[in-house]
Amino acid sequence: MNRFVRILAVLPFFVPAACTSDATDEFNIPEEYLAEAESIPPYWIASTSEVNDYILNNVHKGEVELLGHSAGGRPIYAVTYGTPRSGSGTTTYSGASSINRIAAYRGPDSGKKVYMAIAAVHGFELEGIVGIVNMISVLETGKDLSGQPWPELEAMRDSLDRIVLVPITNPDGRDRVPIRMEKFRGSGPDAYLVHEYLNTGGLDHGKLIGWPACKEYNPVDFSAVEFPGSYPNDNGINIMHDDFFGTVQPETRIVLDLARRENPDILLNMHTGVSRYDYFIEVCRPCLGAYSPMHVRVWEQFYRHVHTDLTLGGFRGTDDLLKETTPKLEHTGTGAMNLTSVLSYHCGALAVTVEDGSHGYTGVYPDGSPVNHTPEKILNAELTLHQSAMRFLLRNGGVSAWEKAE
Ligand SMILES: [Zn+2]
Repeated sequence: MNRFVRILAVLPFFVPAACTSDATDEFNIPEEYLAEAESIPPYWIASTSEVNDYILNNVHKGEVELLGHSAGGRPIYAVTYGTPRSGSGTTTYSGASSINRIAAYRGPDSGKKVYMAIAAVHGFELEGIVGIVNMISVLETGKDLSGQPWPELEAMRDSLDRIVLVPITNPDGRDRVPIRMEKFRGSGPDAYLVHEYLNTGGLDHGKLIGWPACKEYNPVDFSAVEFPGSYPNDNGINIMHDDFFGTVQPETRIVLDLARRENPDILLNMHTGVSRYDYFIEVCRPCLGAYSPMHVRVWEQFYRHVHTDLTLGGFRGTDDLLKETTPKLEHTGTGAMNLTSVLSYHCGALAVTVEDGSHGYTGVYPDGSPVNHTPEKILNAELTLHQSAMRFLLRNGGVSAWEKAE
């Protein structure tokens, strides 16, 4: 714990006099795009003020930590449980991976099981925020914020050695979309348009920039678009594709330093964005070349494990376990490298991107009928996924155990 406090003490905190102004003043977003959901469930805590208020007032068994500030001067918090690894190794992760012994990097506590999850790297991907906030509620009280008990998930607070959660990684992007919850827009072919505009940005009169086309400009010139969306921070950078080996953004630095300090075994990067025709939460395939052979093997085991639990929970498209637990051959749009793969290289974690469906619209089954996709189902799917990922870590051990099986 001393090591942790010392590192925090030297982080340069920069707090501008005032945060950036409200997006509705700054950008000409079509008014109808900012329509709120008619009724917002009590467990839907997903704005920066709601999340910060929640964690600052309700975390008692864990600890709240101010990690630093975004490019726009907004605070970024972590909530942690358990005891971090102590001591240090004798080499870098790169060196340790060369001798297939991660303890040489992580030190004497290498065998501890450490779980980490981050959400809202893309600010308006709210499903991951809701999942993490409700997981914090479970770890604190045994129940999510709808009152549903999750005894296995609650027990992870003691079963795992350390849990590290960052509910909002990109608060600048989150604050740029000044609504708590989107109006639900159905399952039609255009139902995704408003969510897509708010998330990846738009040109004149609500026209989409589009995905992955939005990645062509990083930084985005805010004056060249009608609305830059929630992907970038206030410097215009989508940190999922930061200049990782150059000068990184404050948010990226914060996540990299946290991952280096905690050295998680599993690190989930929670996003929103699945195909209309497979509109279910999913574990994504990593970028090509991002993993060692051990990571590839463990990722496949992890995928099967988590997708089994999602299928049994009714959170996948069918109840066909073979189909639902067989990884897709590829995942488009991840590119050669991104924040998730860099985090894996950075500390040896099995770092994995998870994508969920948006609460703002739904997809369709092959026969064209809409997928039942409610906020409550999103909450349950997110918590089921975290619980399953933690169970995988508990049963299979972390990197130290995985490398022994090579
Ligand atoms: Zn995303």
